[in-house]
Amino acid sequence: MNDVVLQVQDLAIAFRQETVVDRIGFQVRRGETFALVGESGSGKSVTALGVMRLLPPAARYLDGRAHLHGEDLLRLPEWRMNRIRGRRIAMIFQDPMTCLNPVRTVGEQIGEVLTLHFGLRGTGRRRRVLELLHQVGIPEPDRRIDSYPHQLSGGQRQRAMIAIALAGEPDLLIADEPTTALDVTIQAQIMALLTRLQRQRQMALWLITHDLGLVADVADRAAVMQQGRILETFERRGDKLFERPQHPYTRKLLAALP
Ligand code: ADP
Ligand code: MG
Repeated sequence: MNDVVLQVQDLAIAFRQETVVDRIGFQVRRGETFALVGESGSGKSVTALGVMRLLPPAARYLDGRAHLHGEDLLRLPEWRMNRIRGRRIAMIFQDPMTCLNPVRTVGEQIGEVLTLHFGLRGTGRRRRVLELLHQVGIPEPDRRIDSYPHQLSGGQRQRAMIAIALAGEPDLLIADEPTTALDVTIQAQIMALLTRLQRQRQMALWLITHDLGLVADVADRAAVMQQGRILETFERRGDKLFERPQHPYTRKLLAALP
């Protein structure tokens, strides 16, 4: 079981009186793409934010554990959690502007992660930033390193956000609707980038999306979420992921797939 990077058990989260994540459990393993898939409002983002301990103040934990390599994130002191975020677990979002700083260059923002977690500075740091920009497919890294986020295209901003996430060399990357806001061709490019990086680095990729077609294409395992619960999980066999769905809701969702 050493391959289990994240093990979530009995996680339950409420906003005021309403339970929006209802005692769910799942694993994310090293070197795999695990998808949490469900319609909008089913509780996917709250689950991820709960694991990251980034819930809004109105939310509270009712129960649960989230072990990262055996250490329960939900019971760590905040200072420890701060070291884990961005280093052991990184997260990217639908809208890069929610995590890119508009008044700092892309190079500075990647560099900050390298300094914070690895103590890199000066030319060593610059070299690593250029390498990361190159890895995520940003053209002309030595020019783009000095660009501000608004000077990049939407797809390039997404790539810059991925570079920041990778800078910490995380064991687990959580990607919450990473391609939803992008044009179809850019979507495919970003998804290809994520799966390539995930394979190369043997990283665990936790993909959160409402896009069943995407999940059917890229996920090794998937859990279907509805109204805060996980209804059913699937494991890929060959090129088939969603075989023989048991739950009526899952069947209905999958019937819409081409
Ligand atoms: P998903 O990511 O699957 O679209 P979310 O996890 O964002 O869904 O939301 C799950 C539920 O939690 C929804 O019913 C949503 O209305 C509620 N919710 C999310 N964020 C908040 C918030 N800040 N305050 C109150 N309710 C929230
Ligand atoms: Mg969401």
